[in-house]
Amino acid sequence: GSKIVVTKPVVELDGDEMTRIIWKKIREELILPYLQLDIKYFDLGLEYRDQTNDQITVDAANAIIEHKVGIKCATITPDEARVEEFKLKEMWRSPNGTIRNILGGTVFREPIILKRVPKPVPGWVNPIVIGRHAFGDQYRSTDFVAPGPGKLQLVYTPADGGAPTTMNVYDFKGKGVAMSMYNTDESITGFAHASFKMALSKKMPLFMSTKNTIMKKYDGRFKDIFQEIYDKEYKPLYEAAGIYYEHRLIDDMVAQAIKSSGGFVWACKNYDGDVQSDILAQGFGSLGMMTSELITPEGDIIESEAAHGTVTRHYREYQKGNETSTNPVASIFAWTRGLLHRAKLDNNDPLRKFCLDLEAACVEVIDGDGIMTKDLALAIYGKAMKREHWVVTDKYMDAVKAKLQEKMAARGA
Ligand code: NAD
Repeated sequence: GSKIVVTKPVVELDGDEMTRIIWKKIREELILPYLQLDIKYFDLGLEYRDQTNDQITVDAANAIIEHKVGIKCATITPDEARVEEFKLKEMWRSPNGTIRNILGGTVFREPIILKRVPKPVPGWVNPIVIGRHAFGDQYRSTDFVAPGPGKLQLVYTPADGGAPTTMNVYDFKGKGVAMSMYNTDESITGFAHASFKMALSKKMPLFMSTKNTIMKKYDGRFKDIFQEIYDKEYKPLYEAAGIYYEHRLIDDMVAQAIKSSGGFVWACKNYDGDVQSDILAQGFGSLGMMTSELITPEGDIIESEAAHGTVTRHYREYQKGNETSTNPVASIFAWTRGLLHRAKLDNNDPLRKFCLDLEAACVEVIDGDGIMTKDLALAIYGKAMKREHWVVTDKYMDAVKAKLQEKMAARGA
């Protein structure tokens, strides 16, 4: 058939190592043969970031703001070893951090659920989408070792020249530790809007967790801001969509999450999100099946990617000419999730259907036909895994392409 016309552009951010190899194949074989698509391409591969003094990352972020859709391949965040390996001019910062600082917004991770792969938490039959407030709290705190007895105080000096407030925190009788941390109404408000918009777009209930029984004022502020915004702006929209928002105490929330069958969005404070998102990644099986979407508070801009890295360990094998079986599913979903946002913004139903067909093809090839990469075979067969249980990346992707074509033909597309 003829290609689906996508009228507005998407921004593509290319990346590194094994995921860069897979990325190209996804673009050339699963996307471009079916879509007439204007791609604004930015090469965020480490060599080009170094050549441009990382300007390419900033340019890409600005292009995402302009075009509203960013689709990103995994990238290397350089450390000392990478500086040496690539002879870098500088230890460039994490592209994800740079992009997030320019776009603002909140990152949500979502697992792609398979029936065949046993889960450490078997009850989780639906995805749990987790969002982490990536500003302030412990990550911007001032911490301190008290060398001996002494008084610890907290002082707030108003900028308008008002009288300072001094709070006595603790009287150290000996050595100890202390920490001071903060957040802002502005950041919490942005986090709330991003969370409400994400749950609404997924048509799943939203929970936001805090420890407001202990941190009455600090966590209480998070609870109050979410509640005010919900009551004022989102409640009617949620009721119309048949979903709801509730605050949960973090300890109740973890217990509820374990007992649940999934199917909700969980907005976490910074530290909780750091810990909980790794618990979820493990609980659902493979990193190769975890997607990641950055959504802005206005909900109009989305950047999507796989939650995993560049899979360096597999790339070393690839470089030696050995066969590789890297799971491409989360990278394929980076494309479909970005394109689904394009479809929503442009009201493009053929594009939406194409994306859903491609996502379903990825899952059905594994769940229905038992064709999968090695990470999934290992999760199913464990020590009993044999070579015939898995295929190399290219074979899996060929099966996905065949399944996609079957589905499109069945729809007459
Ligand atoms: P990684 O996610 O690339 O790989 C860790 C391990 O998880 C692998 O060795 C493999 O066993 C498994 N794994 C991950 N994805 C898989 C897949 N699709 N299929 C099969 N197995 C998979 O993390 P890492 O090894 O710690 O980091 C490698 C590079 O990736 C680093 O340079 C790091 O800076 C970068 N990184 C980038 C991002 C990002 O761009 N969002 C995120 C994390 C790490």
